[in-house]
Amino acid sequence: MPTPLKTDVIIVGAGPTGLALACQLVRYDVDFVIIDKSEGVTHYSKALGVHARTLEIYEQLGLAQKAVEQGTIAGKVRLLERGEVLGQVELSNIGKGLSAYPFMLVLEQSRNEQLMYDWLKERGHDVLWRTELESFSQDHTTVTAQVKASDAAFQTIAGKYLVGCDGPHSLVRHALGFAFEGSTFERLFYVADLRIDWKFSHDALTVCLAPHGVVAFFPMPGEKRWRIVGAFPEGLEKDERDIVYEEIEAQIKKEAQLDLDITRVDWFSTYKVHTRHVDKFSAGRCFVAGDAAHIHTPAGGQGMNTGIQDAYNLAWKLALVLKHSADAQILETYNEERLPNAKRLTATTDRMFNFAAGKDWFVALIRTTIFPPLAKYILSIEAVRKKFFILISQIGITYRANSLSMHETGGGGGGGAGGGG
Ligand SMILES: Cc1cc2nc3c(=O)[nH]c(=O)nc-3n(C[C@H](O)[C@H](O)[C@H](O)COP(=O)(O)OP(=O)(O)OC[C@H]3O[C@@H](n4cnc5c(N)ncnc54)[C@H](O)[C@@H]3O)c2cc1C
Repeated sequence: MPTPLKTDVIIVGAGPTGLALACQLVRYDVDFVIIDKSEGVTHYSKALGVHARTLEIYEQLGLAQKAVEQGTIAGKVRLLERGEVLGQVELSNIGKGLSAYPFMLVLEQSRNEQLMYDWLKERGHDVLWRTELESFSQDHTTVTAQVKASDAAFQTIAGKYLVGCDGPHSLVRHALGFAFEGSTFERLFYVADLRIDWKFSHDALTVCLAPHGVVAFFPMPGEKRWRIVGAFPEGLEKDERDIVYEEIEAQIKKEAQLDLDITRVDWFSTYKVHTRHVDKFSAGRCFVAGDAAHIHTPAGGQGMNTGIQDAYNLAWKLALVLKHSADAQILETYNEERLPNAKRLTATTDRMFNFAAGKDWFVALIRTTIFPPLAKYILSIEAVRKKFFILISQIGITYRANSLSMHETGGGGGGGAGGGG
């Protein structure tokens, strides 16, 4: 019978959330084991946007500069309709005066994961790949996880805490019995990473307005590389697994109405957009974080960033408790702080998404006719620019009204706990 592995924190899942949690626990010198059922960090680009709050967290790891060097700064937004430029809005310094990273960085999830994974390895830590959580139980001192590991050196991991960073189909969430309510958008979306020859410069997030939604082109690191995101019209009868790349290319060309030459296909996928969140982030000694706790539309590129910030919020609290510097009660503030954030996030991204892809005729009219000529003017207003950046970059998240920030007199406290993460 193999002996159980013992640790303080069991991290299930080594996507961006699990890796971010592991990095933070290294900073606090907390013992952990991180497992993932896959072979290694993802090769898929998936999430693209890295926002200011995440870069501030990366800065504490010494990774911000590397991320900026590897990525592309979205310099502007260019609006197109039927191949004609309707207008351009400067983005490169949109958050000036608000953050040391006053821009939106485009850097694929695979590269973010690799940055954090390399950081862990440089400090002598590794992920237990090909190791799958099968079940777990907890009592008042220990969480015991049963795992299936390829080398079978152990089948049980005993930890003081367990954090499910195991993605949208989270076994941890299911086992804890958390609700995951919300909705699924009717339309089928596509994403494709392509090399494109066309007349447009590679420094602008290029948005093509169409009656049925938008087709967005994100400049990716690498010459002429673009991420394209769009949707098939409602009523598509085909099963998503039967969609072939040629149908995606035809849809891009039909909706965008552009003269473009696609010279290489790096990756493509189709997906249904869901918007859901848990009813609580923790039960006893177990927690959920990242997509295990909330999934939402890709509008605003918040998914990966929010998972990294869940991890940031939880890590220092776990560290204080494990080092006997705080009562375990502090762990309840993880739920108190991150659940309202998840609720706000799903509501905001739904609104943004409905504007970009909604079928309502009035929304379509605003999107295609009223908004484009006004966009440049609206974003040139200082207050609007600031509000937009604070929202998208997640630097506006604070916990001033939450219990950790309350003084004994009961009044609101100072800054956001845990750097707002
Ligand atoms: C096609 C696509 C496009 C996307 N585009 C965007 C975008 O543009 N912007 C954006 O913000 N987000 C986007 N996302 C979402 C983004 O990828 C997620 O928000 C992000 O990956 C969440 O990270 P996570 O670590 O919480 O979960 P995941 O990345 O899902 O990681 C979970 C990890 O847990 C592991 N795991 C699961 N179950 C177990 C188990 N039982 N035992 C051991 N390991 C387990 C998995 O192997 C995986 O590595 C996209 C996602 C997809 C699929």
